[in-house]
Amino acid sequence: LWSQVLERLQLQLSRPTFETWIKTASAEELQDNCLVIHTPNPFARNWIQKYYIKTIASVVHDILGHPVDIRIEIAQGDDLSTANDIESPSLPPTPPAAQGAETNGAKEKDRKRASPLNPKYAFSRYVVGPNNRMAHAACLAVAEYPGREYNPLFLCGGVGLGKTHLMQAIGHYRLEIQPDSKIFYISTEQFTNDLIAAIRKDGMQSFREHYRAVDVMLVDDIQFIEGKEYTQEEFFHTFNTLHEAGKQVVLASDRQPSQIPRLQERLCSRFSMGLIADIQPPDLETRMAILQKKAEYESIRLPREVIEYIASSYTSNIRELEGALIRAVAYISISGLPMTVANIAPVLNPPTEKVAASPETIMAAIVETYGISTEDLKSNSRRREISLARQIGMYLMRQHTDLSLPKIGEEFGGKDHTTVMYSCEKVSVLETNDPDVAQQLRQLSDRINLASNQAD
Ligand code: ADP
Ligand code: MG
Repeated sequence: LWSQVLERLQLQLSRPTFETWIKTASAEELQDNCLVIHTPNPFARNWIQKYYIKTIASVVHDILGHPVDIRIEIAQGDDLSTANDIESPSLPPTPPAAQGAETNGAKEKDRKRASPLNPKYAFSRYVVGPNNRMAHAACLAVAEYPGREYNPLFLCGGVGLGKTHLMQAIGHYRLEIQPDSKIFYISTEQFTNDLIAAIRKDGMQSFREHYRAVDVMLVDDIQFIEGKEYTQEEFFHTFNTLHEAGKQVVLASDRQPSQIPRLQERLCSRFSMGLIADIQPPDLETRMAILQKKAEYESIRLPREVIEYIASSYTSNIRELEGALIRAVAYISISGLPMTVANIAPVLNPPTEKVAASPETIMAAIVETYGISTEDLKSNSRRREISLARQIGMYLMRQHTDLSLPKIGEEFGGKDHTTVMYSCEKVSVLETNDPDVAQQLRQLSDRINLASNQAD
């Protein structure tokens, strides 16, 4: 029976709705004309109870030809999450926020101030795992019925864990269903800047009209409101106006409201009065699913071992995880090597061990990168660019070969081993303190690794 019910519900409900609320539930056989549905958590139970129980009842009625009672319970014991509900729900591709052909002056103005939504940040591209299941469900709930409950919705979680993505997904979903709804996505900084501009131009009236005529207000990185007394004051009133009018407010922050320093007590209590949903770092499976999904969207074929390798190297920030994938793909396409762990390992952070390279390879990389001749590198010239290139060469030789300090000195025209030692020390300090040098070193290492791999 339940599988028949699922089949029909799938046709009636939007895909994120179905996958988030219905697919994660299960049901027992009919008993005494009562269907008992199990949900993975109380949140899902309440939501189904409130918004979908009628639909389910009518579907069951349809199938059986008579009405039945429906009871919703929370599943006991084991978490119902299985590998396949890591798959994310899907919406048809979402149009970017700034759509709607009939543009009038007012709309034009709104658009200028509220940032457009990133078309990539849709529910369809969000991978759901145990770490973000609640936050995802809460966002979908808010997207389905804005302003009804969970108002405000306060998302919190570390950097790069998907807060901005989820927030914007709410906006996309709303615009999909109601293209003329007024969705504002703004950073806290932008709110402050607008406020300052309004004060300066004597435009408080229009500032208020602008910010209070919104259906869904998405405010990102609200932790930055910390200590800004005037912004807090104005935001408090904006918040209250929207909230009283039943408009949805969603806030994102890297920490809980109570952890934001120098936040007015009354704001802290407003922020906490709806639902606070947190996002934890993803587990390995979820990270793999994220890479897989990203690769699919970019039409990149990734062997499983590569996915596993990247996913296990980056654990706490999805932006870095994606960055690693992009770097690996770029490197593979430049080098023309096959996509294997051995080939991408050298370009990923954290560096696995340095690939062994010959002194000639290293010299050649320096010469090509800095446009300095081998003779100059071996000379005693103290010109700044030459001596820095020479020091970097020594440092790289120390990392990529097992030559002794005196031997490295010989490679650079017979320098003393203490000179080599001090050069290496200096470059290693620069590597941690000077982003430009760090960047150059990474590129040089990539180049050296590439040359050495091709030599094998
Ligand atoms: P935050 O705002 O929490 O710092 P973002 O929302 O900017 O993080 O996410 C960083 C990057 O990681 C974005 O490119 C986003 O699309 C991606 N990302 C984060 N979480 C997920 C997820 N669960 N599924 C797919 N992509 C994700
Ligand atoms: Mg963000």
